[in-house]
Amino acid sequence: LRRNPGETEFHQAVREVLGSLGPVLAKRPEFAEAKIIERVCEPERQLIFRVPWADDSGEVHINRGFRVEFNSALGPYKGGLRFHPSVSLGIVKFLGFEQIFKNALTGMPIGGGKGGSDFDPKNRSDDEIMRFCQSFMTELYRHLGEYTDVPAGDIGVGGREIGYLFGQYKRITNRYESGVLTGKGLGWGGSQARTEATGYGTVLFTAEMLRHRGEGLEGQRVSISGSGNVAIYAVEKAQQLGATVVTCSDSTGYVVDEKGIDLALLKQVKEVERGRISHYAERRGAHATFVAGGSVWEVSVDVALPCATQNELTESDATALVRNGVKAVAEGANMPTTPEGVHVLQEAGVAFGPGKAANAGGVATSALEMQQNASRDSWTFAHTEERLAEIMRNIHDSCHETAERYGSPGNYVVGANIAGFELVAEAMVAQGLI
Ligand code: NDP
Repeated sequence: LRRNPGETEFHQAVREVLGSLGPVLAKRPEFAEAKIIERVCEPERQLIFRVPWADDSGEVHINRGFRVEFNSALGPYKGGLRFHPSVSLGIVKFLGFEQIFKNALTGMPIGGGKGGSDFDPKNRSDDEIMRFCQSFMTELYRHLGEYTDVPAGDIGVGGREIGYLFGQYKRITNRYESGVLTGKGLGWGGSQARTEATGYGTVLFTAEMLRHRGEGLEGQRVSISGSGNVAIYAVEKAQQLGATVVTCSDSTGYVVDEKGIDLALLKQVKEVERGRISHYAERRGAHATFVAGGSVWEVSVDVALPCATQNELTESDATALVRNGVKAVAEGANMPTTPEGVHVLQEAGVAFGPGKAANAGGVATSALEMQQNASRDSWTFAHTEERLAEIMRNIHDSCHETAERYGSPGNYVVGANIAGFELVAEAMVAQGLI
Protein backbone atom coordinates (compact mmCIF):
# COMPACT_ATOMS: atom_id res chain seq x y z
CA LEU A 1 0.00 0.00 0.00
CA ARG A 2 2.81 2.41 0.94
CA ARG A 3 4.62 1.64 -2.26
CA ASN A 4 1.63 2.27 -4.53
CA PRO A 5 -0.39 5.04 -2.86
CA GLY A 6 -3.82 5.84 -4.25
CA GLU A 7 -3.94 2.84 -6.59
CA THR A 8 -7.21 1.57 -5.13
CA GLU A 9 -8.23 -0.79 -7.92
CA PHE A 10 -4.73 -2.28 -8.08
CA HIS A 11 -4.81 -2.97 -4.33
CA GLN A 12 -8.22 -4.60 -4.75
CA ALA A 13 -7.01 -6.88 -7.56
CA VAL A 14 -3.85 -7.89 -5.67
CA ARG A 15 -5.81 -8.62 -2.49
CA GLU A 16 -8.25 -10.77 -4.44
CA VAL A 17 -5.46 -12.92 -5.93
CA LEU A 18 -3.30 -13.15 -2.80
CA GLY A 19 -6.36 -14.12 -0.76
CA SER A 20 -6.48 -17.41 -2.67
CA LEU A 21 -2.79 -18.31 -2.64
CA GLY A 22 -2.22 -19.52 0.95
CA PRO A 23 -2.59 -23.24 0.14
CA VAL A 24 -0.29 -23.12 -2.87
CA LEU A 25 2.44 -21.24 -0.99
CA ALA A 26 2.22 -23.80 1.81
CA LYS A 27 2.66 -26.63 -0.68
CA ARG A 28 5.36 -25.02 -2.83
CA PRO A 29 8.03 -23.41 -0.57
CA GLU A 30 10.21 -22.69 -3.62
CA PHE A 31 7.80 -19.89 -4.58
CA ALA A 32 8.28 -18.09 -1.26
CA GLU A 33 12.05 -18.63 -1.40
CA ALA A 34 12.22 -16.96 -4.83
CA LYS A 35 9.99 -14.11 -3.52
CA ILE A 36 7.53 -14.73 -6.34
CA ILE A 37 4.71 -12.81 -4.63
CA GLU A 38 6.81 -9.67 -4.21
CA ARG A 39 8.12 -9.95 -7.77
CA VAL A 40 4.79 -10.67 -9.43
CA CYS A 41 3.23 -7.58 -7.82
CA GLU A 42 5.92 -5.29 -9.24
CA PRO A 43 5.59 -4.55 -12.98
CA GLU A 44 8.69 -5.30 -15.06
CA ARG A 45 8.31 -1.86 -16.63
CA GLN A 46 5.74 0.96 -16.56
CA LEU A 47 5.57 3.77 -19.05
CA ILE A 48 3.74 7.08 -18.70
CA PHE A 49 3.85 9.57 -21.54
CA ARG A 50 2.41 12.80 -22.89
CA VAL A 51 -0.09 12.59 -25.76
CA PRO A 52 -0.65 15.99 -27.40
CA TRP A 53 -3.24 16.36 -30.15
CA ALA A 54 -5.42 19.04 -31.75
CA ASP A 55 -9.22 18.82 -32.09
CA ASP A 56 -11.18 19.80 -35.20
CA SER A 57 -11.32 23.43 -34.15
CA GLY A 58 -7.55 23.57 -33.70
CA GLU A 59 -7.61 23.57 -29.90
CA VAL A 60 -4.71 21.66 -28.38
CA HIS A 61 -5.32 18.91 -25.79
CA ILE A 62 -2.83 17.03 -23.64
CA ASN A 63 -3.70 13.53 -22.48
CA ARG A 64 -1.69 10.99 -20.55
CA GLY A 65 -0.70 7.66 -22.07
CA PHE A 66 0.15 4.50 -20.10
CA ARG A 67 1.60 1.08 -20.79
CA VAL A 68 2.35 -1.29 -17.95
CA GLU A 69 4.49 -4.23 -19.07
CA PHE A 70 3.73 -6.40 -16.09
CA ASN A 71 5.09 -9.89 -16.61
CA SER A 72 6.81 -11.67 -19.48
CA ALA A 73 7.41 -15.08 -17.86
CA LEU A 74 5.15 -16.87 -20.34
CA GLY A 75 5.51 -14.74 -23.47
CA PRO A 76 5.47 -11.19 -24.83
CA TYR A 77 3.37 -8.71 -22.82
CA LYS A 78 -0.21 -8.97 -24.03
CA GLY A 79 -3.25 -6.95 -23.02
CA GLY A 80 -5.57 -4.25 -24.28
CA LEU A 81 -5.56 -0.46 -24.42
CA ARG A 82 -8.38 1.42 -22.70
CA PHE A 83 -9.40 4.97 -23.70
CA HIS A 84 -11.68 6.37 -20.98
CA PRO A 85 -11.50 9.52 -18.83
CA SER A 86 -11.23 7.35 -15.68
CA VAL A 87 -7.94 5.74 -16.79
CA SER A 88 -5.12 6.19 -14.27
CA LEU A 89 -2.00 4.25 -13.32
CA GLY A 90 -3.95 2.32 -10.65
CA ILE A 91 -6.59 1.22 -13.18
CA VAL A 92 -3.98 0.14 -15.74
CA LYS A 93 -2.04 -1.76 -13.07
CA PHE A 94 -5.13 -3.61 -11.83
CA LEU A 95 -5.95 -4.62 -15.39
CA GLY A 96 -2.35 -5.61 -16.13
CA PHE A 97 -2.08 -7.66 -12.95
CA GLU A 98 -5.30 -9.57 -13.74
CA GLN A 99 -4.07 -10.07 -17.27
CA ILE A 100 -0.98 -12.03 -16.14
CA PHE A 101 -3.06 -14.85 -14.64
CA LYS A 102 -5.82 -14.70 -17.24
CA ASN A 103 -3.30 -15.12 -20.04
CA ALA A 104 -1.69 -18.02 -18.20
CA LEU A 105 -5.08 -19.72 -17.89
CA THR A 106 -5.57 -19.65 -21.67
CA GLY A 107 -2.61 -22.02 -22.05
CA MET A 108 -1.19 -19.72 -24.76
CA PRO A 109 2.38 -18.31 -24.70
CA ILE A 110 1.51 -14.75 -23.65
CA GLY A 111 2.67 -12.55 -20.78
CA GLY A 112 0.60 -9.82 -19.13
CA GLY A 113 0.37 -6.08 -19.83
CA LYS A 114 -2.18 -3.32 -20.21
CA GLY A 115 -2.30 0.30 -21.32
CA GLY A 116 -4.46 3.18 -22.33
CA SER A 117 -5.16 6.84 -21.87
CA ASP A 118 -7.48 9.23 -20.03
CA PHE A 119 -8.62 10.40 -23.48
CA ASP A 120 -12.43 10.40 -23.86
CA PRO A 121 -13.39 9.21 -27.36
CA LYS A 122 -17.12 10.02 -26.84
CA ASN A 123 -18.47 12.62 -29.27
CA ARG A 124 -15.13 12.92 -31.07
CA SER A 125 -15.01 12.90 -34.88
CA ASP A 126 -13.20 10.17 -36.80
CA ASP A 127 -10.45 12.70 -37.64
CA GLU A 128 -9.96 13.54 -33.97
CA ILE A 129 -9.79 9.86 -33.04
CA MET A 130 -7.22 9.31 -35.80
CA ARG A 131 -5.03 12.23 -34.70
CA PHE A 132 -5.16 11.05 -31.10
CA CYS A 133 -4.26 7.46 -32.04
CA GLN A 134 -1.38 8.67 -34.20
CA SER A 135 0.02 10.82 -31.40
CA PHE A 136 -0.38 7.96 -28.88
CA MET A 137 1.45 5.50 -31.14
CA THR A 138 4.21 8.00 -31.94
CA GLU A 139 5.49 7.41 -28.42
CA LEU A 140 4.30 3.85 -27.78
CA TYR A 141 5.73 2.27 -30.95
CA ARG A 142 9.28 2.09 -29.57
CA HIS A 143 8.13 -0.24 -26.79
CA LEU A 144 6.13 -2.64 -28.98
CA GLY A 145 6.93 -5.60 -31.20
CA GLU A 146 5.53 -9.04 -31.89
CA TYR A 147 8.16 -10.56 -29.57
CA THR A 148 7.99 -7.75 -27.01
CA ASP A 149 4.59 -6.25 -26.37
CA VAL A 150 1.35 -6.77 -28.31
CA PRO A 151 -1.61 -4.49 -27.40
CA ALA A 152 -5.27 -4.99 -28.33
CA GLY A 153 -8.57 -3.19 -27.67
CA ASP A 154 -10.54 -2.64 -24.46
CA ILE A 155 -13.08 0.00 -23.38
CA GLY A 156 -13.12 2.78 -25.99
CA VAL A 157 -10.70 0.97 -28.31
CA GLY A 158 -12.27 -1.14 -31.07
CA GLY A 159 -11.58 -1.90 -34.71
CA ARG A 160 -11.44 1.75 -35.79
CA GLU A 161 -8.82 2.71 -33.20
CA ILE A 162 -6.72 -0.42 -33.79
CA GLY A 163 -6.69 0.52 -37.50
CA TYR A 164 -5.32 4.02 -36.84
CA LEU A 165 -2.79 2.69 -34.30
CA PHE A 166 -1.57 -0.01 -36.69
CA GLY A 167 -1.29 2.46 -39.57
CA GLN A 168 0.91 4.78 -37.53
CA TYR A 169 3.09 1.91 -36.25
CA LYS A 170 3.66 0.75 -39.83
CA ARG A 171 4.43 4.26 -41.00
CA ILE A 172 7.01 4.96 -38.28
CA THR A 173 8.75 1.58 -38.38
CA ASN A 174 8.40 0.85 -42.10
CA ARG A 175 7.44 -2.71 -41.14
CA TYR A 176 4.23 -4.56 -41.91
CA GLU A 177 4.44 -6.35 -38.60
CA SER A 178 0.97 -7.89 -38.39
CA GLY A 179 1.60 -9.55 -35.04
CA VAL A 180 2.25 -6.27 -33.19
CA LEU A 181 -1.43 -5.53 -32.52
CA THR A 182 -4.51 -7.73 -32.34
CA GLY A 183 -8.12 -6.93 -33.10
CA LYS A 184 -7.18 -5.91 -36.65
CA GLY A 185 -9.68 -5.77 -39.52
CA LEU A 186 -10.39 -9.05 -41.32
CA GLY A 187 -8.93 -7.76 -44.59
CA TRP A 188 -5.53 -6.91 -43.10
CA GLY A 189 -4.45 -9.57 -40.65
CA GLY A 190 -7.34 -9.76 -38.21
CA SER A 191 -8.83 -13.03 -37.03
CA GLN A 192 -12.32 -14.29 -37.60
CA ALA A 193 -14.24 -14.45 -34.32
CA ARG A 194 -11.96 -11.99 -32.46
CA THR A 195 -14.71 -9.37 -32.24
CA GLU A 196 -17.10 -11.97 -30.87
CA ALA A 197 -14.60 -13.85 -28.71
CA THR A 198 -14.89 -12.23 -25.27
CA GLY A 199 -18.69 -12.20 -25.18
CA TYR A 200 -18.97 -15.66 -26.72
CA GLY A 201 -16.35 -17.03 -24.34
CA THR A 202 -18.12 -15.62 -21.27
CA VAL A 203 -21.34 -17.35 -22.28
CA LEU A 204 -19.54 -20.62 -23.08
CA PHE A 205 -17.91 -20.51 -19.65
CA THR A 206 -21.33 -19.91 -18.06
CA ALA A 207 -22.76 -22.87 -19.97
CA GLU A 208 -19.94 -25.07 -18.61
CA MET A 209 -20.63 -23.95 -15.03
CA LEU A 210 -24.33 -24.72 -15.48
CA ARG A 211 -23.56 -28.08 -17.11
CA HIS A 212 -21.62 -29.09 -14.00
CA ARG A 213 -24.81 -28.43 -12.04
CA GLY A 214 -26.89 -30.51 -14.43
CA GLU A 215 -28.40 -27.53 -16.27
CA GLY A 216 -28.01 -25.62 -19.54
CA LEU A 217 -28.64 -22.12 -20.84
CA GLU A 218 -31.68 -23.15 -22.84
CA GLY A 219 -34.76 -21.34 -21.52
CA GLN A 220 -32.84 -19.31 -18.91
CA ARG A 221 -33.55 -15.63 -18.36
CA VAL A 222 -30.35 -13.61 -18.55
CA SER A 223 -29.38 -10.04 -17.66
CA ILE A 224 -26.35 -8.41 -19.26
CA SER A 225 -24.85 -5.02 -18.42
CA GLY A 226 -23.03 -2.82 -20.91
CA SER A 227 -23.72 -2.57 -24.62
CA GLY A 228 -20.20 -2.50 -26.01
CA ASN A 229 -18.09 -5.17 -27.65
CA VAL A 230 -18.29 -7.74 -24.86
CA ALA A 231 -21.98 -7.22 -24.06
CA ILE A 232 -23.24 -7.37 -27.66
CA TYR A 233 -21.58 -10.71 -28.39
CA ALA A 234 -22.57 -12.14 -25.03
CA VAL A 235 -26.17 -11.38 -26.05
CA GLU A 236 -25.57 -13.08 -29.41
CA LYS A 237 -24.15 -16.31 -27.99
CA ALA A 238 -26.68 -16.51 -25.13
CA GLN A 239 -29.49 -16.23 -27.68
CA GLN A 240 -27.85 -18.88 -29.89
CA LEU A 241 -27.85 -21.22 -26.90
CA GLY A 242 -31.57 -20.68 -26.31
CA ALA A 243 -31.54 -18.12 -23.48
CA THR A 244 -33.65 -14.96 -23.34
CA VAL A 245 -31.55 -11.88 -22.64
CA VAL A 246 -33.77 -9.22 -21.10
CA THR A 247 -31.37 -6.35 -20.34
CA CYS A 248 -28.42 -4.31 -21.50
CA SER A 249 -27.11 -0.92 -20.36
CA ASP A 250 -24.64 1.91 -20.70
CA SER A 251 -23.39 4.55 -18.31
CA THR A 252 -26.70 6.47 -18.56
CA GLY A 253 -29.05 3.63 -17.55
CA TYR A 254 -30.45 0.27 -18.58
CA VAL A 255 -33.06 -1.23 -20.87
CA VAL A 256 -35.46 -4.03 -19.93
CA ASP A 257 -36.82 -5.82 -22.96
CA GLU A 258 -39.23 -8.53 -21.87
CA LYS A 259 -39.44 -10.14 -25.32
CA GLY A 260 -35.68 -10.49 -25.45
CA ILE A 261 -33.11 -8.03 -26.83
CA ASP A 262 -33.45 -7.39 -30.57
CA LEU A 263 -29.83 -8.02 -31.50
CA ALA A 264 -29.99 -6.48 -34.98
CA LEU A 265 -31.39 -3.25 -33.53
CA LEU A 266 -28.80 -3.24 -30.73
CA LYS A 267 -25.95 -3.62 -33.23
CA GLN A 268 -27.42 -0.89 -35.45
CA VAL A 269 -27.68 1.58 -32.53
CA LYS A 270 -24.34 0.78 -30.86
CA GLU A 271 -22.00 -0.40 -33.61
CA VAL A 272 -23.23 1.57 -36.64
CA GLU A 273 -24.68 4.76 -35.17
CA ARG A 274 -22.54 4.79 -31.97
CA GLY A 275 -25.71 5.95 -30.16
CA ARG A 276 -26.92 5.60 -26.56
CA ILE A 277 -28.85 2.65 -25.16
CA SER A 278 -31.91 4.92 -24.65
CA HIS A 279 -32.12 5.16 -28.47
CA TYR A 280 -32.56 1.38 -28.55
CA ALA A 281 -35.57 1.63 -26.22
CA GLU A 282 -37.08 4.50 -28.25
CA ARG A 283 -36.84 2.46 -31.45
CA ARG A 284 -37.96 -0.87 -29.97
CA GLY A 285 -41.37 0.45 -28.95
CA ALA A 286 -43.66 -0.98 -26.26
CA HIS A 287 -41.57 -4.11 -25.43
CA ALA A 288 -38.66 -2.17 -24.00
CA THR A 289 -38.38 0.27 -21.11
CA PHE A 290 -35.41 2.53 -20.48
CA VAL A 291 -34.54 3.15 -16.82
CA ALA A 292 -32.27 6.15 -16.29
CA GLY A 293 -29.60 5.48 -13.65
CA GLY A 294 -30.62 2.67 -11.30
CA SER A 295 -29.21 -0.83 -11.13
CA VAL A 296 -29.71 -3.38 -13.88
CA TRP A 297 -29.21 -6.10 -11.23
CA GLU A 298 -32.65 -5.37 -9.74
CA VAL A 299 -34.19 -7.25 -12.67
CA SER A 300 -35.13 -10.83 -11.77
CA VAL A 301 -33.06 -13.38 -13.77
CA ASP A 302 -31.53 -16.87 -13.66
CA VAL A 303 -28.14 -15.79 -14.98
CA ALA A 304 -26.35 -12.42 -14.73
CA LEU A 305 -23.40 -11.37 -16.90
CA PRO A 306 -21.73 -8.07 -15.93
CA CYS A 307 -20.02 -6.89 -19.14
CA ALA A 308 -19.46 -3.13 -18.62
CA THR A 309 -16.77 -2.07 -16.16
CA GLN A 310 -15.09 -2.58 -12.77
CA ASN A 311 -17.07 -2.55 -9.51
CA GLU A 312 -20.46 -2.27 -11.22
CA LEU A 313 -22.02 -5.14 -9.22
CA THR A 314 -21.97 -4.28 -5.52
CA GLU A 315 -22.99 -6.06 -2.34
CA SER A 316 -26.56 -4.71 -2.55
CA ASP A 317 -26.78 -5.67 -6.24
CA ALA A 318 -25.62 -9.20 -5.39
CA THR A 319 -28.17 -9.35 -2.57
CA ALA A 320 -30.93 -8.36 -5.02
CA LEU A 321 -29.79 -11.01 -7.51
CA VAL A 322 -29.77 -13.70 -4.84
CA ARG A 323 -33.19 -12.61 -3.55
CA ASN A 324 -34.52 -13.02 -7.10
CA GLY A 325 -33.08 -16.54 -7.38
CA VAL A 326 -30.01 -16.08 -9.62
CA LYS A 327 -28.15 -19.37 -10.29
CA ALA A 328 -25.00 -18.22 -12.08
CA VAL A 329 -22.97 -15.03 -12.48
CA ALA A 330 -20.02 -14.80 -14.87
CA GLU A 331 -17.85 -11.73 -15.36
CA GLY A 332 -17.52 -10.57 -18.98
CA ALA A 333 -15.90 -7.36 -17.73
CA ASN A 334 -12.74 -7.14 -15.62
CA MET A 335 -13.44 -7.12 -11.86
CA PRO A 336 -17.07 -5.93 -12.25
CA THR A 337 -18.10 -7.49 -8.92
CA THR A 338 -16.91 -5.90 -5.69
CA PRO A 339 -15.29 -8.27 -3.12
CA GLU A 340 -18.40 -7.91 -0.92
CA GLY A 341 -20.59 -8.78 -3.92
CA VAL A 342 -18.55 -11.91 -4.65
CA HIS A 343 -18.88 -12.95 -1.02
CA VAL A 344 -22.68 -12.63 -1.08
CA LEU A 345 -22.95 -14.69 -4.28
CA GLN A 346 -20.61 -17.44 -3.11
CA GLU A 347 -22.24 -17.69 0.31
CA ALA A 348 -25.61 -18.14 -1.41
CA GLY A 349 -24.22 -21.02 -3.49
CA VAL A 350 -24.43 -19.14 -6.82
CA ALA A 351 -22.00 -20.43 -9.48
CA PHE A 352 -19.57 -17.50 -9.83
CA GLY A 353 -17.12 -17.25 -12.77
CA PRO A 354 -14.43 -14.59 -12.17
CA GLY A 355 -13.35 -12.42 -15.10
CA LYS A 356 -9.85 -13.76 -15.39
CA ALA A 357 -11.38 -17.11 -16.36
CA ALA A 358 -14.78 -16.19 -17.83
CA ASN A 359 -13.60 -13.37 -20.12
CA ALA A 360 -10.30 -14.96 -21.21
CA GLY A 361 -11.78 -15.91 -24.61
CA GLY A 362 -10.89 -12.49 -26.02
CA VAL A 363 -7.19 -12.62 -25.28
CA ALA A 364 -7.06 -16.31 -26.22
CA THR A 365 -8.42 -15.46 -29.65
CA SER A 366 -5.92 -12.61 -29.86
CA ALA A 367 -3.22 -15.24 -29.38
CA LEU A 368 -4.86 -17.23 -32.19
CA GLU A 369 -4.66 -14.07 -34.31
CA MET A 370 -0.92 -13.89 -33.55
CA GLN A 371 -0.57 -17.55 -34.61
CA GLN A 372 -2.29 -16.84 -37.91
CA ASN A 373 -0.10 -13.76 -38.46
CA ALA A 374 3.08 -15.71 -37.70
CA SER A 375 2.18 -18.41 -40.23
CA ARG A 376 0.68 -15.90 -42.72
CA ASP A 377 -2.52 -17.87 -42.61
CA SER A 378 -6.16 -17.08 -41.99
CA TRP A 379 -8.61 -19.55 -40.56
CA THR A 380 -12.36 -19.84 -41.06
CA PHE A 381 -14.86 -18.56 -38.52
CA ALA A 382 -15.98 -22.10 -37.70
CA HIS A 383 -12.42 -23.30 -37.05
CA THR A 384 -11.54 -20.31 -34.87
CA GLU A 385 -14.78 -20.57 -32.92
CA GLU A 386 -14.15 -24.27 -32.32
CA ARG A 387 -10.68 -23.44 -30.95
CA LEU A 388 -12.26 -20.79 -28.71
CA ALA A 389 -14.86 -23.25 -27.40
CA GLU A 390 -12.15 -25.80 -26.64
CA ILE A 391 -10.04 -23.19 -24.81
CA MET A 392 -13.03 -22.08 -22.70
CA ARG A 393 -13.80 -25.69 -21.77
CA ASN A 394 -10.16 -26.20 -20.78
CA ILE A 395 -10.13 -23.03 -18.68
CA HIS A 396 -13.31 -24.09 -16.94
CA ASP A 397 -12.00 -27.58 -16.25
CA SER A 398 -8.64 -26.34 -15.04
CA CYS A 399 -10.28 -23.89 -12.57
CA HIS A 400 -12.74 -26.55 -11.42
CA GLU A 401 -10.08 -29.21 -10.95
CA THR A 402 -7.61 -26.85 -9.22
CA ALA A 403 -10.26 -25.64 -6.76
CA GLU A 404 -11.00 -29.23 -5.84
CA ARG A 405 -7.33 -30.16 -5.54
CA TYR A 406 -6.75 -27.25 -3.15
CA GLY A 407 -9.75 -27.99 -0.96
CA SER A 408 -12.29 -25.43 -2.26
CA PRO A 409 -14.57 -27.44 -4.55
CA GLY A 410 -16.81 -25.32 -6.79
CA ASN A 411 -14.90 -22.11 -5.97
CA TYR A 412 -13.85 -20.79 -9.40
CA VAL A 413 -12.14 -17.75 -7.84
CA VAL A 414 -9.70 -19.95 -5.94
CA GLY A 415 -9.33 -22.29 -8.93
CA ALA A 416 -8.57 -19.49 -11.40
CA ASN A 417 -6.14 -17.67 -9.13
CA ILE A 418 -4.15 -20.77 -8.19
CA ALA A 419 -4.13 -22.35 -11.66
CA GLY A 420 -2.93 -19.10 -13.28
CA PHE A 421 -0.43 -18.32 -10.54
CA GLU A 422 1.21 -21.76 -10.57
CA LEU A 423 2.01 -21.52 -14.28
CA VAL A 424 3.51 -18.05 -13.95
CA ALA A 425 5.41 -18.82 -10.74
CA GLU A 426 6.95 -22.01 -12.18
CA ALA A 427 8.20 -20.10 -15.24
CA MET A 428 9.59 -17.30 -13.04
CA VAL A 429 11.47 -19.75 -10.83
CA ALA A 430 12.88 -21.52 -13.91
CA GLN A 431 14.04 -18.25 -15.49
CA GLY A 432 16.00 -17.14 -12.44
CA LEU A 433 16.17 -13.89 -10.57
CA ILE A 434 15.19 -11.38 -13.28
P1 NDP B 1 -16.69 -1.05 -24.87
O1 NDP B 1 -16.07 0.29 -24.83
O2 NDP B 1 -17.01 -1.67 -26.18
O3 NDP B 1 -18.06 -1.03 -24.02
C1 NDP B 1 -18.07 -0.68 -22.68
C2 NDP B 1 -19.50 -0.69 -22.20
O4 NDP B 1 -19.51 -0.52 -20.80
C3 NDP B 1 -20.32 0.46 -22.76
O5 NDP B 1 -21.66 0.07 -22.86
C4 NDP B 1 -20.14 1.53 -21.69
O6 NDP B 1 -21.18 2.51 -21.65
C5 NDP B 1 -20.14 0.71 -20.44
N1 NDP B 1 -19.36 1.42 -19.42
C6 NDP B 1 -18.04 1.75 -19.48
N2 NDP B 1 -17.67 2.42 -18.38
C7 NDP B 1 -18.77 2.48 -17.62
C8 NDP B 1 -19.04 3.05 -16.36
N3 NDP B 1 -18.08 3.69 -15.65
N4 NDP B 1 -20.30 2.91 -15.87
C9 NDP B 1 -21.27 2.26 -16.56
N5 NDP B 1 -21.07 1.71 -17.78
C10 NDP B 1 -19.85 1.84 -18.29
O7 NDP B 1 -15.75 -1.99 -23.99
P2 NDP B 1 -15.65 -3.59 -23.98
O8 NDP B 1 -17.01 -4.17 -24.21
O9 NDP B 1 -14.53 -3.97 -24.84
O10 NDP B 1 -15.19 -3.86 -22.48
C11 NDP B 1 -16.12 -4.07 -21.40
C12 NDP B 1 -15.42 -4.75 -20.25
O11 NDP B 1 -14.91 -6.01 -20.68
C13 NDP B 1 -14.23 -4.01 -19.65
O12 NDP B 1 -14.16 -4.28 -18.27
C14 NDP B 1 -13.04 -4.65 -20.35
O13 NDP B 1 -11.84 -4.51 -19.61
C15 NDP B 1 -13.51 -6.09 -20.38
N6 NDP B 1 -12.86 -6.95 -21.36
C16 NDP B 1 -12.88 -6.64 -22.68
C17 NDP B 1 -12.28 -7.48 -23.60
C18 NDP B 1 -12.40 -7.26 -25.07
O14 NDP B 1 -12.00 -8.16 -25.84
N7 NDP B 1 -12.93 -6.15 -25.54
C19 NDP B 1 -11.53 -8.67 -23.16
C20 NDP B 1 -11.65 -8.96 -21.75
C21 NDP B 1 -12.26 -8.10 -20.90
P3 NDP B 1 -20.88 4.01 -22.13
O15 NDP B 1 -20.79 3.92 -23.61
O16 NDP B 1 -22.03 4.80 -21.64
O17 NDP B 1 -19.57 4.42 -21.49
